[in-house]
Amino acid sequence: MERDISNTIFRLGFFSAIGIVLIQAVLSVAPLMFRLTEGRPGCDTPIHWRLGDVDSRFPVDRKTFLLTAIEAGNVWEKRIGKKMFIYDPQTSFAVTTVFDDRQKMLYDSQGLEKTVAQYQKDAAVLKNTYDTLQAGFKRDQTVLNDRIASYQKALAVYNDDVSQANAAGGATPDKYASLEKRRKELEKEQSVIKKETDRISMEVDQVNAAAGKINTKTTSVKNDIQTYRQKYGEPQPFIEGLYESPLRSITIYEFKGVDDLRLVIAHEFGHALGIAQHAPDDQSAIMYAMMGGQDLLHPGLTEADIKAYEAVCPASAVSPRDAFVSYLVDTPYPEMKLGTIFTLFSTLVTSAILVR
Ligand SMILES: [Zn+2]
Repeated sequence: MERDISNTIFRLGFFSAIGIVLIQAVLSVAPLMFRLTEGRPGCDTPIHWRLGDVDSRFPVDRKTFLLTAIEAGNVWEKRIGKKMFIYDPQTSFAVTTVFDDRQKMLYDSQGLEKTVAQYQKDAAVLKNTYDTLQAGFKRDQTVLNDRIASYQKALAVYNDDVSQANAAGGATPDKYASLEKRRKELEKEQSVIKKETDRISMEVDQVNAAAGKINTKTTSVKNDIQTYRQKYGEPQPFIEGLYESPLRSITIYEFKGVDDLRLVIAHEFGHALGIAQHAPDDQSAIMYAMMGGQDLLHPGLTEADIKAYEAVCPASAVSPRDAFVSYLVDTPYPEMKLGTIFTLFSTLVTSAILVR
């Protein structure tokens, strides 16, 4: 019996050649496999960010700003359920501030708001004083008018009686004494009326002074509003924060305090995740273009935000690398199939080449 040695040698050589090709394939793909683990920032791996310059003219200090930015990242992480942002002082992507007219306008408008609030308080007190004084004046004036009417009536009667006495050729001593008593009473009443008239005239001055004070304050606050409008024009929407792609920077231009700062950074972080478009219909969405409709104290993603995120980061079931590794690790050796390993490996190689 003869054995066909040459055929065996040929087969050994053939399989060694395949082995060498496979080893070479693994070696050349290995760096790409390593690249794969980087993934897409925001989708597969967290975005690293650092804190740039925090201008001291903004209303929060650097530490508060940093904590607020971390909270802004949490707004996304809490709902999506994974680590998406990592504070990393060594990275290039910076959250930073620029102090310009936008923040100055905010400060001026806050000053104006205070002025107007103080005016409203002062004007309410002055109006109260004015009303009290005017009511007193009206009451006193009514009493005085009645008194004047009675006095004039009594004076007319007295004058008639004097005329009658004169016409009768003079008054008896008794009548004279009675008329004289009434004349003195009328004189006294006239002097009281004079004093009362002076007093009421002072009341009028006080009422006018109160009205004058209100007018002065009103004019002053009107001028302040006018000056503000001349300086900044009518209210218009403006950019509070700006993201520069790809992962270059987030610049914050305006905020009142930590609550709106958190929302602005959460919004810009959304752009950093790759969400380029704003949520058009949902005013409470983090990714809505304007601020105002969102919950400032407890900001959270809405369905529109989640949809926007899933559109840029589709929830791929398992990455090819994870599928390959988990098959090797989780499958008991006797159940492993060479075909499956080859399929998983070739998917991994294909995707590794694709991400290049
Ligand atoms: Zn935006």
